[in-house]
Amino acid sequence: MAAKKEIPYKIYLEENEMPKAWYNVRADMKNKPAPLLNPGTHQPMTAQELEGVFCAELVQQELDNTTPYIPIPQEIQDFYKMYRPSPLVRAYCLEEKLKTPAKIYYKFEGNNTSGSHKLNSAIAQAYYAKKQGLKGVTTETGAGQWGTALSMACAYLDLDCQVYMVKVSYEQKPFRREVMRTYGASVTPSPSNTTNVGRQILAEHPGTTGSLGCAISEAVEAAVTQEGYRYVLGSVLNQVLLHQSVIGLETKAALDKYGIKPDIIIGCAGGGSNLGGLISPFAGDMLRGEANYRIIAVEPASCPSLTRGKYAYDFCDTGKVCPLAKMYTLGSNFIPSANHAGGLRYHGMSSIVSQLYHDGLIEATSVEQTKVFEAAEYFARVEGILPAPESSHAIRVAIDEAIKCRETGEEKTIVFGLTGTGYFDMVAYEKFNNGEMGDYIPTDEELEKSFATLPQVEE
Ligand SMILES: *Cc1c(COP(=O)(O)O)cnc(C)c1O
Repeated sequence: MAAKKEIPYKIYLEENEMPKAWYNVRADMKNKPAPLLNPGTHQPMTAQELEGVFCAELVQQELDNTTPYIPIPQEIQDFYKMYRPSPLVRAYCLEEKLKTPAKIYYKFEGNNTSGSHKLNSAIAQAYYAKKQGLKGVTTETGAGQWGTALSMACAYLDLDCQVYMVKVSYEQKPFRREVMRTYGASVTPSPSNTTNVGRQILAEHPGTTGSLGCAISEAVEAAVTQEGYRYVLGSVLNQVLLHQSVIGLETKAALDKYGIKPDIIIGCAGGGSNLGGLISPFAGDMLRGEANYRIIAVEPASCPSLTRGKYAYDFCDTGKVCPLAKMYTLGSNFIPSANHAGGLRYHGMSSIVSQLYHDGLIEATSVEQTKVFEAAEYFARVEGILPAPESSHAIRVAIDEAIKCRETGEEKTIVFGLTGTGYFDMVAYEKFNNGEMGDYIPTDEELEKSFATLPQVEE
């Protein structure tokens, strides 16, 4: 290994350099993300309507398209101090192994028990629920990271936490479930017979192993039918991207500290929250005409909402109880093939990310899961961290871009989001190691069938 490095392996911020406010990229967007619509009337959802489902202060954040900086309450800043700042790591070992002139950095969000960035928004949402005097919150979880993050936040604030977990994950990931229960959450496999919508879905599809869209419907119903409860969501919404801007603000502050200007910024995209959070301050620079970056969203080829979806209003959930959101979507009935193990399986994409993509500010690309796991394993062996499959989508493209630099000799600076660790994904790693993992890419016909179920909305 080369002797002295000018830039530390890990760039940390001092406590007094930490963000004191979240950055709301909508304030700098000329084309604002489209509003949520009432699924019955197709009129924009009012604050009053939204407050039946969400906490009041979070509704304000959801609808606020104009305030650029929203102060982070001191209590949330204090909680952040338990696991933040997260390190911005210079991937010297990866650079050497790849023999690339590129400089590679990753922002590592896996240093907390939830194993992902989701805690950044979980604590904020739980805080506002507590402040409103609520008894508890309901939510859904797919792979389990969001449910874990929320149960940690609720335990800290002494709030009840009810999690509807997609049945297939509930059965395949008993340890995730047990972590949530350890933090005091109750976990129900979805679809369940504890809600009307769950019973209806079970009657129509008796053998179903569930989906995120279906668990969302159940969690919303559970919130609106219990006194003192509201529903919270771990991605997609504007408020979640706002909270996740802490990732991008820290990244930017750490880079600025050493005078580093990134050329390429890469994030994996499921519902768009980590990507949106990471890129927000950089997208803000671009929107204000102050700087230029290449921003790349990476999604699975088996769930390609940005690269092959339609930009249209769609349902956010299977039971169609949620507001309509305008987004790049594969249709609310779309469920990725059963052999897809890499997460990022939501049918739609954050309205903010969708609008930025539509306006050409960011690029999108899709990658096949065997290529993703190849990159994951390569990264684990070289940089030490065992990455989450979701995060490994970004690793894949970061490596590909670094290899291109090797070929062209360009010394580009690449920053990517390493959103979490993969310890609960060893069944997927096992499949990969056994050579049993395949790739499934939906056909155009399958997607057309799913697009046919999009609601007809006059705009
Ligand atoms: C949830 C999750 C994602 C994807 O969600 P986004 O909202 O798109 O960020 C990515 N990585 C990890 C580790 C996750 O837990």
